[in-house]
Amino acid sequence: MPDIIQLLPDAVANQIAAGEVIQRPASAVKELLENAVDARSKRIEVFIKDSGKTLIQVIDDGSGMSPSDARMAFERHATSKIRNAEDLFSILTMGFRGEALASIAAISQVEIKSRRHEDELGTYIEIEGNEMKKQEPAGVPGGTSISIKNLFYNVPARRNFLKSNSIEARHIIDEFERVAYANPEISFALNQNGIDIFRLASSNFRQRIVAINGSVYNERLVPVEEVTSLLTISGFIGKPEFSKKTRGEQFFFVNKRFIKDGYLHHAVTKAYEELLPHDSFASYWLCIEIDPSRIDVNIHPTKTEIKFDDERSIYAIVRAAVKRSLGMYSVSPTLNFEHEKSFDVPYNMRFQAVPKPALTINTGFNPFDSDNKKIAAAGWQSQKDVSSGTIEKAFEINTNETLFAPEEKDLQVFQMKNFILCPQDDGLLVIDIAAAREIILYKRFLHQLGSSEVITQQSLFPQTISFSPGDNELVKEIIIEIRNLGFDIQEFGPNSYIIHGIPSDVDPGKVKDILESMVEQFKHNSSSLSTGLPDKIARSLAKSISIRKNSLLNAQEMKMMVKEILKMEDPQRNYGGKPFMILLKTAFIEGHFS
Ligand code: ADP
Ligand code: MG
Repeated sequence: MPDIIQLLPDAVANQIAAGEVIQRPASAVKELLENAVDARSKRIEVFIKDSGKTLIQVIDDGSGMSPSDARMAFERHATSKIRNAEDLFSILTMGFRGEALASIAAISQVEIKSRRHEDELGTYIEIEGNEMKKQEPAGVPGGTSISIKNLFYNVPARRNFLKSNSIEARHIIDEFERVAYANPEISFALNQNGIDIFRLASSNFRQRIVAINGSVYNERLVPVEEVTSLLTISGFIGKPEFSKKTRGEQFFFVNKRFIKDGYLHHAVTKAYEELLPHDSFASYWLCIEIDPSRIDVNIHPTKTEIKFDDERSIYAIVRAAVKRSLGMYSVSPTLNFEHEKSFDVPYNMRFQAVPKPALTINTGFNPFDSDNKKIAAAGWQSQKDVSSGTIEKAFEINTNETLFAPEEKDLQVFQMKNFILCPQDDGLLVIDIAAAREIILYKRFLHQLGSSEVITQQSLFPQTISFSPGDNELVKEIIIEIRNLGFDIQEFGPNSYIIHGIPSDVDPGKVKDILESMVEQFKHNSSSLSTGLPDKIARSLAKSISIRKNSLLNAQEMKMMVKEILKMEDPQRNYGGKPFMILLKTAFIEGHFS
C-alpha cells in the first residue's frame, strides 16, 4: 500500500483558511479596512457594488508597498507586523496573522495598485484564485488601492450561502462603522453603487459618534473617563432614557480593535441597573487602552474575541467607571424635591411676569449612594407611607360621570412640577403633563392621518435634514404618512430631505430633532402596542414632540389640556401602558386628617 498523506496545494490550503477569515463580503471589507488603518492612512475610502458581491475596493493614502512587498503580501502567513512569537504579546496593529490577503486572493479576482510615497513609480498586480496574472510598474497615487472582484467566484457553495443584498450591505455597514468609530482621526467614506452612504471627516470620538448616528445623539451621550494603573477607559455611554429595545449600539474597543465580550457587556449593564427600563439595552461606545501583553487577540481568526489576563479587575473597573458617569450625569435633571416651590403658584399667574422656577441642584448627587436615593424618592415615598394599605383604592382612576360631565364649568388648575392639579367635586385630579400632551397629540395625529386633508404651515426658511443610511430606508417606508401629518418634505440628495412646511404643533426650531427622534421612536416602538402603521406613526410623532417636558404652562394652556382630556370619548386610563391621570378622592385626602 502506498502512503496516502499529502500536503495540500497552497491554493487549497488558502481556500480552507479563507473559509475561516472571509465568511462574507463584510469580512473582506473589515480586513482591507484594518490593513489601511495599519498602514497609518489618514483617508480611507470604500467602494462597494452589489453589497460587495461584485466589487469591494478600498483606497488608502497610507504607507504603500514596494513592488515585491505587494507581491509577497498575498502569500500565506506573510506579514510585516510580527517577526516572532514574542511579538504576539505586543500587538498594537489590527492585523498580524498574515492570512487575510492570501485568503481573499484564493477566492476572488484581485487588483492592487500601490506606491510608497518615497517611490516615483508604483506597482500594479492582478491575481486570480491565488495565481499572479500580471505585475507591472504603474504611475499610481501614494498609498494602496485593492479591488476584490467576484468574491467566492470559485466557491459556489459559499456564494449561494450569501444573504440578500440588503442584509450583506448591513453587515458591511456594521464593519465599516466599527473601524470608523475606533479611528475618529481618520477620514472615511463608504460608497455603495455610486452613492455615498458615509463621508466622515477626521474628528474626535464624540463627533464621530454623532456623524454616524445623527445630531440627536449629541445630547444623549455621557462621557466616561477612567485612568487606572491597569488600563484607561474612555468613551461615551447613552443616557438611560435613550436606551433601546433592540441591541446594536454596544461597542467595546480594546486598543482600537472592536471586540465582542459578553462579560464586559454585563459589567456595563450592571452599572445601569435600575436605571434601565425593563427589556432595553443601554448604548455604549467604550475604548479600553491596555498593555497588549495583558491580552491575547490570537484566539479567534476574525480577532473579535480577545482574552484578558485579569478579567475580573477589568470587569470591576468598567462597571465602576460607567456607574460614576451615570451618577454625575444624573445631577442635572434631578430636582431636589425639598426646594421645589411651584406648588403655591397661583393659577392666574399668566397676568404676571413668569418667574424662573426655583430649583437647586445638588452637585454631589449620586443616585447609587443609598442615602441620596432616599432623598430623591422622598416626594413619592412619604405619600406612599401614610397611605399604605389603601393606596390602590385611593389612586383609582375615576370613570364616573362627575369627572366628565361639567364641561362648561370653569376649571381651577395649578401646576406642580410636571403635573396639573385640578380640583373636582369628588377629589383632586392629577394629570401628568407630558403624558397628557402626548395622548392629545397622538389623537390629533391619528385623526389627521385618517383624513384626506393635509394641514401644513409653510416655513419661511426651508430646512434640510439627513438620515443615516439605515434610517433612511425607514424614512422611505413612511414618507407618505410623514407628509400626511403636515410635513412638506421632499427628497434632496442621497439620504437627505428638504422641508418646506411643518405641522402646526411642531416648533420650527426643533424640526430636525423631532423628525430624527420620530424615526428613532418608530424604529423602537414595540409592535405589540401598536396596531397599524398610522397608529405607530402617530404615536412616534406625539412622543417625539412631548419628550421635551418641564415647561411652565399658563392657566389657559392647562385648562385647554384638561378640557381636551375630559372631552375624549374614551377617557383612557392609560396610554401605552402608563397611567396619565389619577384622581385623589376626597375621602382619601380626608382620611389623612381624621
Ligand atoms: P496582516 O494584516 O495580518 O499582516 P494581511 O494579509 O492582511 O496580513 O496583509 C499582509 C501584509 O500586506 C501586511 O502585513 C502589510 O505589510 C501589507 N499590506 C496589506 N494591506 C496594505 C495596505 N493597505 N497598505 C500597506 N501595506 C499593506
Ligand atoms: Mg491584515
